[in-house]
Amino acid sequence: MIDYKTVLVTPFSQNCRIFVNDESRECVVFDPGAKAQELYAAIKEAQLTLKAILITHMHLDHVGGVGLLSKLSECKVYGSSKEDEVIKQSLKHQALMFNLEQCDDFDNQYLEDGQVIEPMTDFKLKVLHTPGHTPGGVCYYCEAKKLLLSGDTLFNKSIGRTDFPHGNYDDIIDSIKNKLLTLPKDTTVLCGHGLNTTIENEINSNPYLV
Ligand SMILES: [Zn+2]
Repeated sequence: MIDYKTVLVTPFSQNCRIFVNDESRECVVFDPGAKAQELYAAIKEAQLTLKAILITHMHLDHVGGVGLLSKLSECKVYGSSKEDEVIKQSLKHQALMFNLEQCDDFDNQYLEDGQVIEPMTDFKLKVLHTPGHTPGGVCYYCEAKKLLLSGDTLFNKSIGRTDFPHGNYDDIIDSIKNKLLTLPKDTTVLCGHGLNTTIENEINSNPYLV
């Protein structure tokens, strides 16, 4: 069975998610914005193998722990989409801007819209390129579990900020309406910050999307 836990990281309470396959004893981490050492210790203690780190976008509160965690675990790093390279190049600047710790460098493999990946056994994800919050931001959709990891694109009754460098309001609205709200209504949305929601809730009550 595949299940997940949420770990709040960084002063921005970013939702880092750890998905575990308890049969294969594998796990995948989404957006480790910090606490790499603690995440690694918890994964070791649970006798799990970290198969991959997945990134929704290149903001430091989502990737600050990627370098160290991937080094400790010797795992691959996937995401976001190549248009985020410009944001990745600004990570040192982001640390100064948001008063966050500098992060270790990391190599990552960018993903493409529509690509299907299986980062661990029995855990297939479809990559949805959802520019707007950042130009290369992606969401990950797990059809089997009816889950969407929406990063900072869609929040419970809100949307991601577009006033950061390279943000674009029209793009985020377009991404959400065409790529996310078209998913099955009973899809649970795991947001990058704050509470979970569902596609149906957001169609009915998100003030930015009426
Ligand atoms: Zn962000």
